[in-house]
Amino acid sequence: MLKLRLLNAVAPAYFFAATTATFILHFCLFIPTIFPNPDTSLRSSSALHTTVFLFLMFNALGNYIMTIKYPAESDNEIAIPVCSPRCSDKVDSHYLLNGRHFCKLCRKVIFRRDHHCFFTGNCIGNKNMRYFIMFCIYTSCVCMYSLVLGVAFLTVEYSISFENPLTFLTLLPLSTAYFFMGTISGLQLFLVLMLYVWLGIGLVCAGFCCQQVLLVARGQTWCQMQRGELVDNRSPWRANLKDVFGARWILGLILPVQTVEINMKHKHE
Ligand SMILES: [Zn+2]
Repeated sequence: MLKLRLLNAVAPAYFFAATTATFILHFCLFIPTIFPNPDTSLRSSSALHTTVFLFLMFNALGNYIMTIKYPAESDNEIAIPVCSPRCSDKVDSHYLLNGRHFCKLCRKVIFRRDHHCFFTGNCIGNKNMRYFIMFCIYTSCVCMYSLVLGVAFLTVEYSISFENPLTFLTLLPLSTAYFFMGTISGLQLFLVLMLYVWLGIGLVCAGFCCQQVLLVARGQTWCQMQRGELVDNRSPWRANLKDVFGARWILGLILPVQTVEINMKHKHE
């Protein structure tokens, strides 16, 4: 349990460190080096790259904040509840009845809990699933975009050719060796490391996002899947997606705004 609590503190710190590094690298190194002394043609492309980067970053961070701001806890349940007989007593949660969980890390009752996300330090459930999925998509985009710019920067600044596909495989071991031999600077090694960080986070987020969308479409949660519990969800996948993404889902794709709550309000009226 202590390990999980530690992870819950380290993961957001790692996220913020990686975000800050990405911002600094983008504005202090990548854009000034790849588009130097901007004449008219380069100025527009550097402005375009900055706009795309800021748009992706805004959505990634916006959805991150929304995930934390609208947690999946159920109302009116503050006291620590007693476990149901079916409690699987997992490491980080107790299963209660009616699809509710008590998260040991959040210390809250979570409605339709999916999983505990260590990067946001929050549980993901029905209420914040939409923001979480958009957060995954945009984080993946930011990482892949930064990876492309990072490769361009290394090509321009250090004349590293990425024409051979094997370059990427040998880049980290060779760079580490060269760094300890004193041939390359610490900054170059850090850049190479960041390439792998972006690739790793980008791929993991993309895969995770696909899995979550499939689960949502089937009306299932990660918790249910882990318990091997098949829910008899007869509603079509469109209805399941609409339940999570709301009626104004197109707006939600491009901006980190509420689309679900407004939809629910209309239902009650
Ligand atoms: Zn939790």
